[in-house]
Amino acid sequence: MSGFVEPAPTATALMLLGRGTDADSEKGVDCPGELPAPSDPGLVERARKAKDALGDKLFILGHHYQRDEVIQFADVTGDSFKLAQQAAARPEAEFIVFCGVHFMAESADILTTEAQKVILPDLAAGCSMADMASDSQVRQCWDDLTEAGIAADVVPMTYMNSSAAIKSFVGERDGIVCTSSNAKRALTWAYERGEKVLFLPDQHLGRNTAVREMGFELSDCVVYNPHRPNGGLTQQELAEAKMILWRGHCSVHGRFTLECVEKMRQTDPAVNILVHPECTHEVVAAADYVGSTEYIIKTLQAAEPGSSWAVGTELNLVRRLANAHPDKRISFLDKTICYCSTMNRIDLPHLVWSLEELLAGRVPNQISVDPETTKWSKAALDRMLALP
Ligand code: SF4
Repeated sequence: MSGFVEPAPTATALMLLGRGTDADSEKGVDCPGELPAPSDPGLVERARKAKDALGDKLFILGHHYQRDEVIQFADVTGDSFKLAQQAAARPEAEFIVFCGVHFMAESADILTTEAQKVILPDLAAGCSMADMASDSQVRQCWDDLTEAGIAADVVPMTYMNSSAAIKSFVGERDGIVCTSSNAKRALTWAYERGEKVLFLPDQHLGRNTAVREMGFELSDCVVYNPHRPNGGLTQQELAEAKMILWRGHCSVHGRFTLECVEKMRQTDPAVNILVHPECTHEVVAAADYVGSTEYIIKTLQAAEPGSSWAVGTELNLVRRLANAHPDKRISFLDKTICYCSTMNRIDLPHLVWSLEELLAGRVPNQISVDPETTKWSKAALDRMLALP
């Protein structure tokens, strides 16, 4: 069976690999500490020594999109929600080192006890999608919906990939959080309680779930653009819409195009196209299989030996799956590199630095959500956890 074919590097590959900065998508600032050099040959040994010395006090979580050099030290791997749940299930762990991005570390802090400290090895590991919906923008949107006379009919709902402030906003207004695995169940819950849904911040997950899984028409959805007065919508458009989508997207999954799908099918007519619902509607409509990160992993595990797959999700995960299943032909849907640049900011030097700081009695880069935000975010998360 042929091995995984690496996509071609692009001009921005170095930045995507986590070197340099990306001013549009950073959540925090540069790491404040003295980082070990990436070329230090002793990094793996240093990480292992520090991890062993911290023992049960330490629990390392690794998101599926993390680099292999970091994943090798994770006690558990998973998507953002599974990782937050895992952190909550380990109350004896005083330090939760979250190898992922900022909103994930916030969710872990919300769901863990006050005694537990959540650490993000690089504060600059944000999420460009989460950054597309700020608290003030969402409050302005709600004022616009109130002005249009429809706020009372709207249930707000936010994807897990949003800041704690947005989860809190939603929770305070009787709304709910969803993941890409339970978006249909959460939408069903919401439409039992209101005529319309305001879906934050990923327009593609909202549209794909509404149209593919709930039987809505594309014309039932409108897009609220926070950079335009009244979201760029008329009062009539707002009144007629069933689904008000926030104008946000994932910069990684948004890169896959219909052309990528068509080229794959021309090259290999037997190929199965498997994509994440954060991809655009036209890509999702042209794919054979659509689902969350966990769905993608399970689908490839269960696939027939010899079958061919082109996968539209983050490159670190696709490469890891291709290496784990050498009996199947697994390729990356795009022809060029497509990492999540902010996820990739967490590298071995940052992990080593965080662990050695903990060992020295200092808590670096702690992510702490204030009590009021925690209270309402948790209300929205608890509604999701109670979904049938
Ligand atoms: S892959 Fe997309 S949604 Fe996930 S952290 Fe990166 S930018 Fe955010």
